Formats: sequence, C-alpha cells, structure tokens
Amino acid sequence: MAREGDKPQSDVVDRRILATVPVPDPLVPLIDSHCHLDQPAYASDRHAAIARARACGVGRMVTVGAGGTLTSNRAAVALAEADDDIFAAVAVHPHDASEITDETYPDLRLLWEHPKVVAVGETGLDYYYNHSTPDVQRHHLRCFVREAGRANLPLVIHCRDAFDDLLPILREEDAAAIGGVLHCFSGTQAEADACLALGFYLSFSGIVTFKTAAVLRSVAQHTPPDRLLIETDAPFLAPTPYRGKRNEPALLRQVAEEIAQATGRELAEVARLTSENACRLFRLPPAQQRS
Ligand SMILES: [Zn+2]
Repeated sequence: MAREGDKPQSDVVDRRILATVPVPDPLVPLIDSHCHLDQPAYASDRHAAIARARACGVGRMVTVGAGGTLTSNRAAVALAEADDDIFAAVAVHPHDASEITDETYPDLRLLWEHPKVVAVGETGLDYYYNHSTPDVQRHHLRCFVREAGRANLPLVIHCRDAFDDLLPILREEDAAAIGGVLHCFSGTQAEADACLALGFYLSFSGIVTFKTAAVLRSVAQHTPPDRLLIETDAPFLAPTPYRGKRNEPALLRQVAEEIAQATGRELAEVARLTSENACRLFRLPPAQQRS
C-alpha cells in the first residue's frame, strides 16, 4: 500500500480502454497477489471493478487489509468470504503500527483462523514516510513474524528504504521457517538476492512498467521462475500508461506483459508461473471452473 504521493486520482481508467484489452489464454487466469479492494476508492464500483478484472483474465485476487488496525482487515475478510476467487491477508501496515493496542493481536488472531485468510500481512518497515516511528515498526514486525509462525500463514512484507533493518530482523526471527513474499518489490539486486536466500518470493507491481524502472526489470529477469509473483497494489500504483489514475486489478495484465518482456517469456508462461507460485505460497485451493 502506497500513501500520499501515490494517492490515486479520482478519475477512473476509461472502461472502454479495458474493453479493448484482449484476454490472455483463459486456461491460466492471472492472480493479483496484492490489492486493496476494500479501499474507499472503490466505494462506487467495487463489484464492477471485480467483474472487470475477471473480464480481463484475472481469475483470483488476494485483498490485503491496510489502513488502521481492524476495520479494513474485517472488510477484506468479508470480501473474501463473499467470493470464491478472493482471498484475504490480515495484519497492520507499518504506517499504522503506532495504532496497535493490546486488543489488536487477539482480534487479529481470530481473523487469521478464517479459512479465506491466507497470509499475515502486510507488515514490514517503511522509512520513506515514517508514519510510525522506526522502533515501533520494528517491534511489531517482530511480533507479526512470530504470529505468522503460530498461525502457520506466510508473510506479506512491505519494505521501503528499510532493507538494512528488515533483513536482520527476518533472520533473527527465523522468518524463513514460515516464508512469504516481498510485495511491490522495489529494492536492489543485492536486496532481492538476500530476500530470495531467505526463501521469500518477490512480487512486482505497476512500478516495473515505469520508464525509470530499468533496475527493477533487471531484478525481475534474475528472479527464479518459481519465486515470481505479480500484483497491482490497487487502487495505488497504476501501471503505465495509467500512472496517477486509480488502479484496479483489471490492469494486472499490463504488469504481466512487462514481466514477460523483461524476462523474455511468453505472456501465457508468465501467467502460468506466477499463478502456480501464488497458489503454492498462499496454499490456495484448486480453482473452481467457471462456466
Ligand atoms: Zn505495501
């Protein structure tokens, strides 16, 4: 989840554009491994946005509670409960770590027991915005790694300008034992290698489509095929050519195409790989064949 500088404009991507996007090989629907469907940005057209995603070849979505401690998490679980193809991730974003109280963890533990909750996240460190102080962020990151171990759920990690603190904490807390993904990866090759060495997956967002993201495209190219995930982080971080507009899972296709180009693979191969990886990481049940 981005914030402030990346606040999505209100104008929605022109639906006529979405209608022109040819659907990739339907046998291998894409999986958006990280979006925020409960966000207010979708208040007027949430279900239409989910339907558009399907129409554009996105078969499943992992929606992540973020923004505060519980309301967004509960909304994410409710969306997952109501739709076979939507799953939820639950935790407290590093931005909001200072809002965590003694009641928060017991409440979150109840949500982690829900059958449609497939990950503990997003948690992590963000020293770019520092909405919560670094020591408070670090403390709760440690707590969430331990909770993930207890809940036997993989981690969804957010990290911005903080790999120097993130990596030692993941090692000290033995995060490799439970595993997880670096969502919206935006670090260096060395930071990617360190995360991969801990057994984590790397997920690439719309940032990989930006002109200035040559380093990130190279990281994607060097990411082992069985560790590659894709995401939108919608409504944030719309891919080129929609940068600055409200993002939505239907635009995952643009990310998949960029990854295909960067890695020299066919789009259908990227769809197959990233969907298999998401199913393996989040232990998703076999997809329901839609008539
Ligand atoms: Zn995030």
